[in-house]
Amino acid sequence: MSKEAKMMDIFSAELKTVTPSPIHTFSEAVDHVPNILKLTIGTSTHTVKVSKQAAVAAISSDDSHYSVSAGTLALRQAASQFLKRHYDLNYRATTDILITIGATEALYVVLASILDENDEIPTPAYPVYAQMTRINGGQPVLIDVSDDDFVLTPEKLKQTIATHHHIKAIIINNPSNPTGITYSETQIKALVSVLKDTNILIISDEIYSELTYNGQHESIARYLPEQTVVINGVSKAYAMTGYRIGVLAGPTLLINEFNKVHSFIIMTPSNPAMAAAKVAFSSQESLVSTAKMKQDYQHRRDYLVKALKQLEFECIVPNGAFYVFAKVPDDFIQDDVAFANDLVDKVQLAVVAGSGFGPGGAGYIRVSYAAAMSKLEEAVARLTCYAGIIRK
Ligand code: PLP
Repeated sequence: MSKEAKMMDIFSAELKTVTPSPIHTFSEAVDHVPNILKLTIGTSTHTVKVSKQAAVAAISSDDSHYSVSAGTLALRQAASQFLKRHYDLNYRATTDILITIGATEALYVVLASILDENDEIPTPAYPVYAQMTRINGGQPVLIDVSDDDFVLTPEKLKQTIATHHHIKAIIINNPSNPTGITYSETQIKALVSVLKDTNILIISDEIYSELTYNGQHESIARYLPEQTVVINGVSKAYAMTGYRIGVLAGPTLLINEFNKVHSFIIMTPSNPAMAAAKVAFSSQESLVSTAKMKQDYQHRRDYLVKALKQLEFECIVPNGAFYVFAKVPDDFIQDDVAFANDLVDKVQLAVVAGSGFGPGGAGYIRVSYAAAMSKLEEAVARLTCYAGIIRK
């Protein structure tokens, strides 16, 4: 055995259970295909000018030293006001908020701080949840919610809690990636009625909260603040995925503990990115820009859902985020991974296979509509061509 192969023994047992993200692996693998059209990941809008200027100003004025680990007070204040104004959540900037490296680090910090046992995740779900749980020594308990229109019901939650001991946390993703479902006030209250009598921590990933199309985004933290941590950020609402700024908000005592992990793993977030995010959370320009982006996405969603239904894909109309989770028609290849590969082979169209999102995802594809309308039209033309080949 080579020395390099022998070195593989150094990795932890936890890491050996972790597999690379199927979304990114597939999306990168198709890059070499000539004329490929990708509706896998991506955003099509730009960061507002005032945010970009704030980042440039921070660099030009030599704001190039360590900040505080919780993030600049100015940004925490802007995040606190954003959460209050938009969702009626009460978090004090000084004690209840950490600025993280995207929602991703916020998730990591929470899981790393609490896990040595199980946590529970309704699936299909964002694949990072299960993998991060494993990296941190936990065991994800995946709850298949596909029979309930992808919404976790109180009955299923109760049953899961009754049959699994040592559950420390539940991750609720509202609006959801990949399904685009959102939780109504009634649905949230039903979950609260089960969770309030437990000490299970609710990790509420609300990174797509600003992209809720009909009705208001409802945060579970409004009903169980002492038991919930909210994860949000600027990535999706303000088209700033590359700035890597997230927000972790929760009760002071919990935030103090999370700050131990956070400060040791990242020291502080980047100053120019924090300056840009502060402006995103507080400027009129970003409000206007997000409203326009949401309108555009809704228009694209409606176009895509209608076209997919015409091609006999079954899908519920997603009320949030920017994905359609569609069931592959009966007369197409039923294995979603094989189907996604066949789409690439035959019409050079890349979408994500649903089984990568866990139990309940098999037989589905996730199509992102965070793409220009012209791209969506071309994608529908290619899908129509594919259907023509299969159904001739
Ligand atoms: N949570 C969900 C549900 C996501 O879909 C994503 C990114 O796609 C993230 C978190 C990561 O967000 P961030 O870019 O802020 O780390």
